[in-house]
Order: sequence, then C-alpha cells, then structure tokens
Amino acid sequence: MYDLHHLCPAIRKFCEDLDLKIIRPLNRLSGGVAFEYLSGDAAFEIDEDEKRMLLNLNAIEMIFANILELDSLANYTETVALSERLVELYVLHELIHVSQNLYRFSDVQALKRLASHDRLGELDLLADHDAARFVAAVMMARSQASGRNGFLNHLLTSLVAMNTVAPTTFGAPPDKPHKQRRFLGSAISTAFLDEAGCDFAAFEQQFFPLDTPIYPYFGRQSGEVLLFDARGGGLVVEPFQVKARVVEELHDLVAVAHFPKVLAKARLIVRRVMQGELTSLRRSASTA
Ligand SMILES: [Zn+2]
Repeated sequence: MYDLHHLCPAIRKFCEDLDLKIIRPLNRLSGGVAFEYLSGDAAFEIDEDEKRMLLNLNAIEMIFANILELDSLANYTETVALSERLVELYVLHELIHVSQNLYRFSDVQALKRLASHDRLGELDLLADHDAARFVAAVMMARSQASGRNGFLNHLLTSLVAMNTVAPTTFGAPPDKPHKQRRFLGSAISTAFLDEAGCDFAAFEQQFFPLDTPIYPYFGRQSGEVLLFDARGGGLVVEPFQVKARVVEELHDLVAVAHFPKVLAKARLIVRRVMQGELTSLRRSASTA
C-alpha cells in the first residue's frame, strides 16, 4: 500500500506507535493482504494457514457505492482521490484491529458478551482515529513536510473523508448506541480541529492535544456531556451540559448518517467548550 520502508522514519515523527499498530501486524501477515468477496458481513478474515489478511470486497463496493451518492464531489479526480483515501483508511483500520488482537468473529462476540458494547465502540473509534492519524502522517512524509500544523490539517481532511462515508456504509442506528457514540466521537474530534482553525497551538495550550480520540457519552434527557480520551485517559474537558434538544438532534442526525449536519451540530457544542461558556451554562442549568 505504501512504500513503508522508505517513509517509516518520517511517519514515526508523527505516529510513534507506527511499529506497534501497523508494522507488527504486517509482519505477522507474511502471506500479505488481499481483497476477496467474503461470505457474511465480516470486514475481513485472517487465513491462519497462509498468514494472509483477506479484506471483504463487499465492504469496498459499499464504500464506493456511497461515494458515488455524494453530491459534494466536483469531478472524476476528486472521486478517485476520495476512493483511494477510504480504501487506505479501511485497510489501516482493520490492521489496527489485528494489533488489538481482535480479528476473529468469535472473539468480537466474546468482547461484547464479557466486556461491553461500548468497549467495542471505543476500540473501533480508536482504530478509525489511528487510521486517520497514519494517513495524515503518510501525507506529511510524502511531501517531506514537518510541523504539527500541517499534520493536524491532514488529520482534519482524513477525518472528514472518513466521516462522510463510514457512518452511511457501516450504520449508526438508534438500537446500536455504541456505534452512534463511535461516529459522534469522531465528529466531535473533527469539530474541535475545525473550530481550532489555524490556531492549533493556542488551542492545544489551553485544552488538549487535537489528535486525541474522543469517545462521548450524552445524557439524552439532561443534556450532560462527557468526553473521554479513548486511549484510556480521563475526560478531555470538564463535564458540561448542553440543551437536551441538541443532544437529541445529534443522535437523530447520526442515525441517518448525515455528516455535514452532524458536524455542524458538533461544532455548536465544541464552540461552547472553547468560548468558556460552560460555567454560565452550568449556572443557568442549575437555576432553571
Ligand atoms: Zn472495526
């Protein structure tokens, strides 16, 4: 997929976990990575005898079909570029699941049974976010660029590309709240990057690193919001509250997978965090 050997040192500058999350699983897959039509809706299978990763062409076709439905693409070149980007993100996402030792269907079922659906939601969000980080780092490495601003701009582009198509392809229905949290978390990370604009450094000085994967929990009736660092860190900002109507609308929009509207709503929430309106919001909520 990439000339990894050549690009590795430059990618590591932005993603110190490259070896753990991408190189190590690739080394385990000495038979390579291939695309095949797999029965069922598994994203991929590992052929243990051949040590090969087989990615499901049905999923790739669904991704392409959803790209062709987009109104936002101006021409053939943009369509091809987005298709390539999404295949890269898809392959990286699944490789990261191999690094998580989570690649057999029965193991995923055990995780849901013994841990929780939210644990799976977090691991999926983490795989999404890491895949976007790695793509951003590869783009920096290819252009021989350095600097955190460039990396964060590429991360924003990768997250937008992913979120434009992934929720439509993989679904975030109301009866799967962990899937809704996964895509809402990704939208919130995107919204923070978007709102921080060209002043990433000022944001990071005041709040948290903008490449933090965020897993959110919402009080559907209360409007409470908890934003967790999905890598096992704590809350990325203090707990806060928004109008319950906003929370309801966010969930309705992610269920129909309308990313531009989800992002617009997520930006409203993020803007309140950034403008320091939380204290006044909390005050008004407690006096209401
Ligand atoms: Zn996954």
